[in-house]
Amino acid sequence: MIRIALIGCTGSIGRQVADVVRRNRDRFCFSALVCGGNGEELNALAAEFSPALAVCAASDARPKEAYFEDCDVAFIACGGFCGLAYTLAAVRAGKKIALANKESLVCGGEIVMREAKAKGVEIVPVDSEHSALFQALSFRRDAPFRRLILTASGGPFLHFSAEKLKTVTAADALRHPTWKMGAKITVDSATLLNKGYEVIEAKWLYDTEFKKIAAVVHPESIVHSLVAFEDGAVIAQLGYPDMRLPIQLALTYPERLPCAAEPDLEQIGALHFERLPAERFPCFSLALAAGREGGTCPTLLNGAAEIAVRAFLDGRITFPQIAETIECVLNHLPKESCDSFEALEQADLRARAYAMRSIYGK
Ligand code: MG
Repeated sequence: MIRIALIGCTGSIGRQVADVVRRNRDRFCFSALVCGGNGEELNALAAEFSPALAVCAASDARPKEAYFEDCDVAFIACGGFCGLAYTLAAVRAGKKIALANKESLVCGGEIVMREAKAKGVEIVPVDSEHSALFQALSFRRDAPFRRLILTASGGPFLHFSAEKLKTVTAADALRHPTWKMGAKITVDSATLLNKGYEVIEAKWLYDTEFKKIAAVVHPESIVHSLVAFEDGAVIAQLGYPDMRLPIQLALTYPERLPCAAEPDLEQIGALHFERLPAERFPCFSLALAAGREGGTCPTLLNGAAEIAVRAFLDGRITFPQIAETIECVLNHLPKESCDSFEALEQADLRARAYAMRSIYGK
């Protein structure tokens, strides 16, 4: 029986983790369920799964070691910068981590990987792209490769002109063509910021350089990512867009349990790939540049993005202004090396405050 401490149990990924556990009661159970809001849903989950611990914590609350005490796997499924504190707490508790929170590696990759290595903690990717890479690498982190190729659906505005992008609304952005996800990440998919984040995550997860990671648009979201090897062979993982597969596999790999239907290739017909239009979606390049710069830079970018996306969802700024806000914050705030979580936390607060001022003038 694998005992899971699930952080972010009422979010989009958290609900799907609960579904995986529900379908495999003989294999998985919850030792702890933690959410940042939605107490009613937490109560329902607690009644259904009887974890030893069920906690509704404020997003700025410090994670407690008790959350991870009785688990085999810490499943970090909450969104946002606050996920980094949970990931670090799980690393320090010495627990295997199933990682669905992006900000943990985007903002804290340097610290998280350093501490995980020192503690011998394994970090297993849950995101569909990174799970696909893991599968294509035969679950080996030391396998040599030439290039990692991440696929991107391109989001709902893939072929929009720069002019047209000025007029898109939050409702338009929330209509993702292939994946059903939370609001923040759906907007991040539309700006391609999410793909920039995934390049940074891949760098840390597979201990590689940015020049060995590429992103390509694949509108059907059937090929979840590919690995190119030295001899020119390219291995891909295919599947319908359904997060339950990578969630489940993160818990059981290399064993595979029944989960989803296999893709019907005749019904799907053609699969397409095209160049990622970075010139119309500056968030992608901003993320990559921040990732290359390192230190507190990705944290500044992320803090600015969280405020800017919220403002876009509230109708306060236009779609292109998301990137403009991020750029403004990166241009005006000093970048430092990051030797501690506290340094990142300060950078996060500064970025948010600066972004708030630049959007709302206060
Ligand atoms: Mg993804």
